[in-house]
Amino acid sequence: MEHTILDRALARLNHNSDWLYALAEKLWDSPELGFFEFKTADILVSELEALGLSPRTGIARTGVAAELGAKDDPKVLLLADMDALPSQTTPGGNVHACGHHAQMAVMLGLFRALAETGAAEALGLRIVFAASPAEEYVDLGRRLELRRDKEIVYLSGKQEMIRLGFFDTPQLVIKYHSMGDAPDRVATVNGGMNGFMAKRAEFIGRAAHAGAHPEKGVNALSAASLALQAIHAQRESFVENDHIRVHPILTQGGAVVNSVPDRAVLETYIRGASHEALLAAAARVDRALRAGALALGAGLRIVNSPGYQAFDPDPGLGALLGEAAAAVVDNKNIDFNYRSYASDDIGDVACLQPTCQLRFSGFNGEIHSAGFAVKEPGRAYLKPAEILLRTVAALGADDGAAAKRVLKAFTPRFSVSGYRASLDRLFSTLEYPGEAL
Ligand SMILES: [Zn+2]
Ligand SMILES: [Zn+2]
Repeated sequence: MEHTILDRALARLNHNSDWLYALAEKLWDSPELGFFEFKTADILVSELEALGLSPRTGIARTGVAAELGAKDDPKVLLLADMDALPSQTTPGGNVHACGHHAQMAVMLGLFRALAETGAAEALGLRIVFAASPAEEYVDLGRRLELRRDKEIVYLSGKQEMIRLGFFDTPQLVIKYHSMGDAPDRVATVNGGMNGFMAKRAEFIGRAAHAGAHPEKGVNALSAASLALQAIHAQRESFVENDHIRVHPILTQGGAVVNSVPDRAVLETYIRGASHEALLAAAARVDRALRAGALALGAGLRIVNSPGYQAFDPDPGLGALLGEAAAAVVDNKNIDFNYRSYASDDIGDVACLQPTCQLRFSGFNGEIHSAGFAVKEPGRAYLKPAEILLRTVAALGADDGAAAKRVLKAFTPRFSVSGYRASLDRLFSTLEYPGEAL
């Protein structure tokens, strides 16, 4: 019986392909930054309303959700990111350089095929489509303003959705992300990702005439450059399997050349394969920052903010996704052991609910560059939607046996309150006064 449902839904997905490609183009044409995806939300809402549904809107400001099936059935969440990146070539412009327009199109394409064929009811699943704001950890000045104004508490969309209770009930989370074409690799299934946190270190020195009386100054830039060297000196202590990445930049290092710089600002992320590993590396970075300040007698203020949890996908859900992928793509072109050193707030969701992720090719250029663009719509949109549809059907087979099995086997890494406490702890400011003689 399930084969019939799957076949009907697959046929509907293919039948809707022109609409799907047009929807993806429309989303590509309205790239917006995180927590400000208002036009994007409008597009999604009108598509969902066209299906006769009454979507929920304004979730974490701009998020949208709609659902099919009975409330008591096992819940499957089709989750898509909404936000774009600031353009590196057009000042003030944005671009979907991470392919999030494709995520929304793929998930909505799949959701529409399920809706139009009554598949949720037939499979005995409650199927929720949700678009989540602000996955990219950018535009932080504006986000911190939103936090000050109590519009948000956390800095990413999924973190806010967790706070708002969206992930309180058991559910199977399905995620898709685009990727560039690579030889022999068409898809990755359940690749893990690093977690991260962010630091902003401000070195406070004392200005003085750089020619006449440098001895009266405290050089904040020198303190920051020593700190950079001290950070680099930590690298041999990082353990290979912890996948630590520390990549500081100097965003301020003096205002005028004839004054001793009284202010220097260093910003960095610290990434790692686990929360514990990245916190241990972060403690070494703090030591290095303090060493730079101490050597010069400069003051130091370190402002910490939480990034994302490392992404550990659910193996049971991943096995079903893998089988579905192998039904569409040659097995030898699927990477089952991929590991990315980037980060994504899907990691936070995966700490609370079983989560899987498909990454699929069909794009030209480097991800996060302006050249990242769809090469073949069929591969970029239709194929991943087909794989995810097969995954949903597999979850519903035999009266939802697989869905129930995966939910039962899952152990969350945190309770929701424990998760929030760990996030709250990472918002902190450490201050060390200068000791200039
Ligand atoms: Zn991205
Ligand atoms: Zn992305």
